[in-house]
Amino acid sequence: FLKGKTAIVTGSTSGIGLAYAKAFAAEGAHVVINGFGDAADIEKERAALADSSGAAALYDPADMTKPDQIAALVERAVAETGGADIIVNNAGIQHVARIEDFPPEKMEAIIAINLTSAWYMMRAAVPHMKKKGWGRIISTASAHSLVASPNKSAYVMAKHGIAGLTKTIALEVATDGITVNCISPGYVWTPLVEKQIPDTMASRGLTRDQVLNDVLLSAQPTREFVTPEQVAAFALFLCRDEAKSITGANLSMDGGWTAA
Ligand code: NAD
Repeated sequence: FLKGKTAIVTGSTSGIGLAYAKAFAAEGAHVVINGFGDAADIEKERAALADSSGAAALYDPADMTKPDQIAALVERAVAETGGADIIVNNAGIQHVARIEDFPPEKMEAIIAINLTSAWYMMRAAVPHMKKKGWGRIISTASAHSLVASPNKSAYVMAKHGIAGLTKTIALEVATDGITVNCISPGYVWTPLVEKQIPDTMASRGLTRDQVLNDVLLSAQPTREFVTPEQVAAFALFLCRDEAKSITGANLSMDGGWTAA
């Protein structure tokens, strides 16, 4: 149902981002993937996306800390595929440390990649969406857009910011056929979660099993990780006409975490 539309997904060489790209491609959309990683692996993913969609699949290496590269990414998508109809702000990094040990440059990078990049993406894409009278803006926020956990000050700050940005832009474009929402997953099993296990073990003095069961899944009443495919299926629904009244929403998908 997305034939002729273009979906740009930031941070889509891995994890949840790649799952979004696969879901959009399977519905026939042109997709633009972005993020870092091994060039051969990325090319393999890009080619597989083009195969599955029968449409264009581009890779753009824009660094989400660089506003000019973000604007260029959107303009390239429009020039090469005809639009920037769906944007998914998904690129994100994490760092786990007490505030007094938190490197300021890590904090700045988290704010730039997880929050400010979404503002620049929206700024670049909204004019193109307005021209067509249709658009979907989706950001991957987090349960940490609603609640906090210790030792994640920069991440929690960025994700609360995404929730506020989502509401603001939803109001600005409410009569333009554009919806703006964020999806707030609990713990999703991806490289981002896997990578923070050693730091959490160190900062809290725990074993790997204790981090998995007593820290991560203890927050999730279902005691199950969310999957990238579940998040992508939710995003796909937000692109349907039936979802046009869902805007400005922070949509939890967290196994009950924020209900507790
Ligand atoms: P991941 O580490 O698998 O993927 C992150 C992606 O961002 C990668 O493609 C990476 O290359 C890219 N990236 C990193 N820095 C970048 C930069 N400067 N410019 C462009 N791309 C960059 O992580 P993930 O778990 O799939 O996370 C994706 C999003 O989901 C993040 O915003 C994360 O905060 C959010 N999220 C994840 C979870 C979880 O439990 N995994 C839960 C809630 C929210």
